This record gives sequence, C-alpha cells and structure tokens, in this order.
Amino acid sequence: MRAVVCSEFGESRVENVPMPSVNTGEVLVKVQRVQLSVTECNLYHGKEISHYETIRNRLNDGPSRLFGHEFCAEVVETANDVTEFDVGDRVYAAGKIPCGNCGYCQSGRELYCLNKEYIGYDIPGTLSEYAALPAEPLSRVPDGVSDAEAAAMQPLASTVLCLREAGITQGDIVAVVGTGVMGFQSAQLALLQGADEVIVTDIDTRKLDIAERHGLTTLDATTTDPVESIRNRTGHTGADVVIEAVGGDQDRGTDGRTPLAQAVEMVARGGSIVQIGYLIGDLTITPRILRSKSVDWINPVTGATDLGPNRTTGTFAARLVEQGRVSIKEYITDELSGLDSFDQAVEMTLNKKEYDALGPTQIVLT
Ligand SMILES: [Zn+2]
Repeated sequence: MRAVVCSEFGESRVENVPMPSVNTGEVLVKVQRVQLSVTECNLYHGKEISHYETIRNRLNDGPSRLFGHEFCAEVVETANDVTEFDVGDRVYAAGKIPCGNCGYCQSGRELYCLNKEYIGYDIPGTLSEYAALPAEPLSRVPDGVSDAEAAAMQPLASTVLCLREAGITQGDIVAVVGTGVMGFQSAQLALLQGADEVIVTDIDTRKLDIAERHGLTTLDATTTDPVESIRNRTGHTGADVVIEAVGGDQDRGTDGRTPLAQAVEMVARGGSIVQIGYLIGDLTITPRILRSKSVDWINPVTGATDLGPNRTTGTFAARLVEQGRVSIKEYITDELSGLDSFDQAVEMTLNKKEYDALGPTQIVLT
C-alpha cells in the first residue's frame, strides 16, 4: 500500500510500504479522508511544541509514518476480540489511547493518563491507504454525517467535554472570545445548554457572518471594544460565563489586548472563564482581579471519554452533527486529492489566510 513516509523534518514522500496486520484490539481501516491539524503541520516543520520530542525521536530512529489523527475511514477487518465495530462501519478517532496501567488509568481516570499514545505521533496514523488502529479511541460515524464532517469531528468531541465543565445554566449570558473551530462549536453548544444569549467576538468578519447565521450575537473586535460592549449589554455586570477560545500567542487574535485579559474583564462577579485555547508562553496577570471578582478559571480536562452509560463524547459529537444541532461544515473549506498532496496540504493549513481557508485542508484518498 502507499503511505506518506517522513525522512526528516519537512521532508517526506509517498512510498510503497507493507500492508499492516491486525493485532489484538485493533481494526484495519481503509482511509477515506484525512484532515491535517495545525499542530502536526508545525511538528512536520520541526517546531518545538507539544509532541516535538516524540516526533524527533521517531525521525532519529529512521524514516517514519507520522501524522494523520483526524480522519474518516472504513473498517475492512477486525481482530477477533473486537466486537464493537463491523466491517463496513465508518469510523473516526475522538481521543487518545490510555496505557491502562498507570495510577490514573487504574483508578478510572484515563483522561489523566501519564503514558497516553497518540495516533500519528506514537504510532502510524492515517496518511496511508490502510491503517491498523486500536479500536479503543474510535467512534462510529452515523449515515447522516459526510466523510468530510467525520474527518473534522475530533475537535467537536473535545469541545463537548470542555463545555460539560463550563457550568452553563438556563438564562446565562455567555461570551466566546475567538470564533476558530472550537470557539464556534463552543458557542453553538452554549446555546444548546440553555444560554439566553451567546456573544462571540473575533476580528474575522467571514467567521462572524457564519456565527450570525447560527443565532449567535457577534461583535467585530476591529470596530467595537468587546469588553465595553459586553458590559453595556449586561448593565455593567458582565457575562456569566466567558469562553477563551483563541489560545496561542496572546498578542494576536483579537484587537490587541490579550484574549485572556479580555475574558477576565468581560466576566461577571461570581462567573467563570473556561480556558479552551492553549496559551503559549508566559502571561503577566494580576491574580487579584480573579480573586476580587470571585471568578472560577476552569481548565477543562482534555480527551474523549464516556459521558455516561449511553454515550461517549465521540458518539455524541457525531449525533450532534447528524441531527444538525451543531454545524461544523462551514469550516471545511479546502480539499486536495491523493497522498502526494501532503506537502501542499501542510502549506495551506499553516497559511490559511493566504489561501482564503477557514479550516485545515483535507486530503481525499478515495
Ligand atoms: Zn495510563
């Protein structure tokens, strides 16, 4: 079969490699689509971010099959002990693979596992015609969900878990700083959770237009001061819950003030800030403000898990999209054909603005 093989940072080519065999607990899948993540595109170019050491070590060991953790694939074979999937099922991976042995795993807290394995980082991902994957992190894709949506589903499973901890209750005013993929998803989920009004702020009018079509109140941070605006709209009280969904370096993303600082100023006394964005580097903050306003700064657990006996975050996310309760398709703006397009897909995903893209580029295999 054909697969993308990386020889060093920024260097790859499509090669013929042996067909993987299916071991205990695994399924063999035929890959239909892969959506690159910004993280893996940065890692491909050797940026020293999370998972850098893992990728460097694998490249030091020799040419490696890396990346491809967001995908839609069809099950073509299952190991004898795998009963939850059948041949013909479409699947995506909502989460990581816990080790099962550490103190966290042994006490039922797999999301905190110290030795999680990541598809595409620790084990080969789906930048290949076929892949043998552990069944554990996979979820079935319902019929009403397209291959493109399935390949973009993993972040929604994470957003579902984050919003579960947000404590949004009926009648709340919720503010979302940043309408990237997870910001837009968070805002839609906040409405589903009973918020009276969800106000989103960004500097990208194209994203704000999409948000408006989904019943969200929008604030263009290039023309309005979002903090003042939210204070005025709430009689100077502030939002009950503020979701920080920009992350990255804090000097970019909104109108110049750091997104987290804006969140602190926007939130009501006794309210909460939900930290969804991954902040890079150090911040200068004045903790006294959080203390004097009695604000909870919630850093939700990451990953995918059971929501209860009936649903996992992975299956619930797929149902939300199938039933049209959360929309993710607007951020799927670009696709390329074939594994040979990997380098171009990386380029487009890393430079979305230049290519007029809203989301990462998808690679179509079949
Ligand atoms: Zn563990």
